Amino acid sequence: MDRKEFLQSFDFTGRTAVVTGGAGVLCGEISCMLAALGARVAILDLMPERAGKWRSRLEELRCEHLVLPCDVLKRESVDAAITQVLARWESIDFLINGAGGNKPGATTSSDLSFFDLPDEALRFVFDLNLLGTIIPSQVVGRHMAEQSRGVVLNISSMNALRPLTRIPAYSSAKAGVSNFTQWMAVHMAQNYSPEIRVNAIAPGFFMTAQNRFLLVDEKSGQLTERGRSIIAHTPAGRFGVPQDLLGAVVWLLSPSSAFVTGTVLPVDGGFQAYSGV
Ligand code: NAD
Repeated sequence: MDRKEFLQSFDFTGRTAVVTGGAGVLCGEISCMLAALGARVAILDLMPERAGKWRSRLEELRCEHLVLPCDVLKRESVDAAITQVLARWESIDFLINGAGGNKPGATTSSDLSFFDLPDEALRFVFDLNLLGTIIPSQVVGRHMAEQSRGVVLNISSMNALRPLTRIPAYSSAKAGVSNFTQWMAVHMAQNYSPEIRVNAIAPGFFMTAQNRFLLVDEKSGQLTERGRSIIAHTPAGRFGVPQDLLGAVVWLLSPSSAFVTGTVLPVDGGFQAYSGV
C-alpha cells in the first residue's frame, strides 16, 4: 500500500454516518470531523434543538446533513429517523451510538445512599446507555446486514473497566456496552458479513454536562476532591477535550482498521494503565 492509498482510507466522501446523541458535546465534535472528511452526517437526538452550534459548523463545511428528533429508547422513533436517512441517502455506512449519560438521582451522595437509589433513576441510566445502544444497533444493523458492510462504533467508558465510586448504574451499564460490542462484532461477522465491524471507544474523563456536577464545586467553581483525584490518576495530567477522541474514532471507522472488530479502545490519557503508585 502506498502513502496515497493509505491516506485515502480516511477520506469519507460519499459515506453516510448516523450519530445518536449527536447534539451533545462529544458526538457533535465527532459529527463535524466526519463531515470535514467528506461524510454525510445525520444527527439523531432527543433534543435536536441543542444541535444549533453543530448545524452551523456542518453548514460551514458544506456537508450534506440532517438533524432529526429521535429517542433511542423508542424503536418506532429510531425506525422513523432511519427511514428518513435512507430516503435521503439510500445507504448507511457508519453508526455511532453516542446517546448516553448519567444522572444525579442514580449517584450516591451524603444525602442518597446506595440502598435508597430509586428504581426509576437506575432504570433510566441502564436503559439510556445499554438499550439506547442496542436498539439503534438492531435497526441500523439490519440494514448493514442487507448491504453486507458497515461499521458500528459504541461509546463505553473507563467506568466499564474499573468502576468509579458513586455511579453504580452508569458503570454497570457501560460494562454492558463493552460486552455488547464484543457480542455484536462476533454475531455480525459470523452471520452476515466479516465486513460489518463493531467496536467501541472507552473515553476517560472529559468535563461535560453529564459529570460537571461531580467534578466542579458549584459555589467555588474549583475542582472537587473527586475532580482532583481523577487528574492525579490521569498520567496526561488533564481532563480530555472532545478533539482527543477524533483520531481514534476516524481510525475505527476507516478501512485502515479493517482487521479490528470487537475491541474497546481506551482514550483516557493513561488512566487505565496507572495503578496509582
Ligand atoms: P452529552 O450529554 O453532551 O450528549 C449526550 C446526548 O445524548 C445529548 O445531546 C442528549 O440530548 C442525547 N440523548 C439523551 N437521551 C437520549 C435519547 N433517549 N435519545 C436520543 N438522544 C438522547 O454527553 P457527552 O459527554 O457528549 O457523552 C456522549 C457519550 O460519551 C455518552 O454515551 C457518555 O456516556 C459517553 N462518555 C462521556 C464521558 C465524559 O467524560 N463526558 C466519558 C466516557 C463516556
